[in-house]
Amino acid sequence: MKFLSALTFLTLSVFCFGQDGPSTIELADFSDFPFIKTNIKVDNSKNISRLNEALLDLKKEHWDTTVYNPYRHVKVHFPVEIKFDDSTYTPPISFKKVVTSRYGWRRGRAHRGIDIDLVTGDSIVAMFDGIVRLANYNAGHGRTVIVRHHNGLETVYAHLSKYAVKSNEIVKQGQLLGYGGTSGNARGSHLHLTINYKGVSINPEYLFDFSEQNIIRSKSIWVTDNWTRPGLHNSKRQTKITVLHTKEEAIASLKKRKKVYIVRPGDTLSGISSKNNVSVASICKSNYIKKTTPIKIGQKLVLEYVF
Ligand SMILES: [Zn+2]
Repeated sequence: MKFLSALTFLTLSVFCFGQDGPSTIELADFSDFPFIKTNIKVDNSKNISRLNEALLDLKKEHWDTTVYNPYRHVKVHFPVEIKFDDSTYTPPISFKKVVTSRYGWRRGRAHRGIDIDLVTGDSIVAMFDGIVRLANYNAGHGRTVIVRHHNGLETVYAHLSKYAVKSNEIVKQGQLLGYGGTSGNARGSHLHLTINYKGVSINPEYLFDFSEQNIIRSKSIWVTDNWTRPGLHNSKRQTKITVLHTKEEAIASLKKRKKVYIVRPGDTLSGISSKNNVSVASICKSNYIKKTTPIKIGQKLVLEYVF
């Protein structure tokens, strides 16, 4: 009887594996049936090697389990296309997301992610399938888990109180990574979530809608340089979002727009620069002046925008 049920199990298993493609974890379930285990190993060799190939692909370049950014010497040329298989993501926390601070300029510094409110001990899960590149302490981010994904993105989960994974671990979408907290430089418990592409942060709200629908804004999103510069965004409000679906759209969006600014009493080049989100260097270039050139009240300055 035991033999018969084992045989049925074997038949069903082989059939199912042919349909879905198993993972290495499923192999462990057959430990009670040593003769089956041998067969399954043979049946699965193709699937396992495909899985390994995909993982090796992720670890092929700039794989470092000790540093936050292994791409320091890589120059990324934007616009870049980011592709997704799905139209939704798995939210990193299981309850309503309250964004307390956005990607952008904050208290004179760059805030390269978004802050989502939570209570210390809340579970943090992976937004997509991937492999843990780093699970380590970092002075600013505290206990941090970074997961690398198949589309080239890395998701960074910071200020954790406890880890649930180690580097080089394969994780599935929705898998527990750790628990939220206040470690590192955090004012109160929250999740700091950063989305990086080859070490460059992207405004997460350009890619994902953080409302309850968990929507990925498109299966193909072109990211321009504008979405990677915190100085062009404000941590207190969401930048107007128009998703760019093609390279042509992305390039067209970068065509410079000009604005004329009339110098007012008390204005300085750096003051005009920060008020208008245009660098001093750009103002000088557009107006053929030097940083040291005095500006006069009533003078017209051309400001060039890349948005
Ligand atoms: Zn933050």
